[in-house]
Amino acid sequence: METEEKSLNFIEQIVEKDLQEGKNDGRIQTRFPPEPNGYLHIGHVKAICMDFGIAEKYNGVCNLRFDDTNPVKEDTEYVDSIEHDIRWLGFHWGNIYYASDYFEQLYNLAIRFIKEGKAYVDEQTAEQIAEQKGTPTEPGTASPYRDRPIEENLRLFQAMQNGEIEDGRMVLRAKIDMANPNMHFRDPIMYRIITTHPHHRTGRRWNVYPMYDFAHGQSDYFEGVTHSICTLEFVVHRPLYDYFIDQFAGENFAGLSPYGPEYRPHQYEFNRLNITYTVMSKRKMLQLVKEGLVAGWDDPRMPTVCGLRRRGYTAQAIRDFISKIGYTKVEGMIDLGLLEHTVRENLKETAPRVCAIFDPVKLVITNHTGESETIVAENIDGHPELGTRQMTFSRELYIERGDFLEQADKNFYRLSPNGREVRLKSAYIIQATGCEKDADGRITTVYATYDPESKSGTEGGNRKTKATINWVDCSTAIDVEARLYDRLFKVENPSAEEGDFRELLNPDSLKVVTCKAESSLREVMHKPQVIDGIAQCKHFQLLKQGYFVVDPDTTDEHLVLNRTASLKDNWQK
Ligand code: ATP
Ligand code: MG
Repeated sequence: METEEKSLNFIEQIVEKDLQEGKNDGRIQTRFPPEPNGYLHIGHVKAICMDFGIAEKYNGVCNLRFDDTNPVKEDTEYVDSIEHDIRWLGFHWGNIYYASDYFEQLYNLAIRFIKEGKAYVDEQTAEQIAEQKGTPTEPGTASPYRDRPIEENLRLFQAMQNGEIEDGRMVLRAKIDMANPNMHFRDPIMYRIITTHPHHRTGRRWNVYPMYDFAHGQSDYFEGVTHSICTLEFVVHRPLYDYFIDQFAGENFAGLSPYGPEYRPHQYEFNRLNITYTVMSKRKMLQLVKEGLVAGWDDPRMPTVCGLRRRGYTAQAIRDFISKIGYTKVEGMIDLGLLEHTVRENLKETAPRVCAIFDPVKLVITNHTGESETIVAENIDGHPELGTRQMTFSRELYIERGDFLEQADKNFYRLSPNGREVRLKSAYIIQATGCEKDADGRITTVYATYDPESKSGTEGGNRKTKATINWVDCSTAIDVEARLYDRLFKVENPSAEEGDFRELLNPDSLKVVTCKAESSLREVMHKPQVIDGIAQCKHFQLLKQGYFVVDPDTTDEHLVLNRTASLKDNWQK
């Protein structure tokens, strides 16, 4: 774990200044506000690390708030997965809130806005409203319904809520300023009608639902959030966030918060996380899932938290990655190589090493009696304190086809019938003597002799060879399905390309191979143990092949491993 002191990020600087100035009586409260319309992705983790991190560091509280204002797309499946993923990442919320908890308060607030002449019911279509918005340099046009009497607005808004008006026929708009240079002030929509879907928590209680801008800041305010941290696309929303709160805080204080007239939440923004060769949008991910272009939200190629977990990423590796990239106020793109580098760094120290042969050819040791013996190998070379494992060694082994060449030049140090000695890892020194081929000239068996006095860990084991190769014992080897993943998209930034992003998917992002693995892997041939609702992942390094994790498709008979990352690190600082 990294213990070095990191300099403060710009939000931490703001928080420390606020604390020094005694703002909010020293109270620090943040929230993480996902909309439960999809699974969390690694972009969300950046926000989670900020929101929960600030609360942890400054003795504050971070609440989990579901921004559930659109029943069309939301579901409890997403609520459950979000809670699970946050716990898996190792964060703890104070309370769980839902924007839907405030529907009554928000509705009453809307009525109050109408009564104060600050909101009106518009009967135009969405297209008409959009056309009248104007451009940043040209003022918009007022709706013909803008000045309808307060009584009529009240009656119509109630009719909207009563289910008397069809979806899309009317909206409630704030009456602010159609000429404001900030387009968000040009009479933003506060409420829309949705009757097509029941809400996952409030059922059919509501027929009108608040828009993000009318719900988010208010929710922060009702809860007592001090620092409302989000991503840069909300910078342009911030004045509206403040405007709505101005209507019932400060000199307009309406008793809607226990923290008094002076209290108000403040919004701060940081740069979103974007990573090369992937997409970072729930909408696009949902499309991939629904159309079967990936195996599900937890497909190991997905940048979702559950996908990364299934791929073998540890929570620590993901958090380390977020800590490496930091927080700024400029958008950018992070190299996928850095994420992979971070998980390698994390697993390097903990993942036991295991042998598996991916492209096996049989090796027969002709001077071996055939009596099986046990070899004890360290889980991680040079670290006896991290334990050992047992392998069997016998007359017939599998080795990698590429480790033998019938005719080798002097630069090939591995097996060849040229008198050169090669060590079988953790076992004996051998010398190739020849090979056998099938009718197509493909090598079927390699022959060798071994030196029984050269066993690793004995006196004779100190003899050096130029090469060490991997092997597994044929008689005890198990067949293992290894799923090898590559980047999900062919292009660096699929979101920046024109056309259909689905056509940019990498057709070679999954390769499945069956390999021969040493028998010690039998131990993990069962469903992972579940502790506190969280499945315990088993990680390995398959020698020369990369880091792997047991996939939940594993049964007692069939072991499936996902490659988390290969060993080759392309990341350069
Ligand atoms: P998406 O665009 O994938 O649908 P979203 O922003 O709509 O994401 P929300 O559920 O509204 O998803 O996000 C919850 C929080 O996570 C918000 O504060 C949002 O700013 C933050 N967040 C979402 N995506 C990213 C990202 N790529 N990087 C950093 N923070 C993000
Ligand atoms: Mg959103």
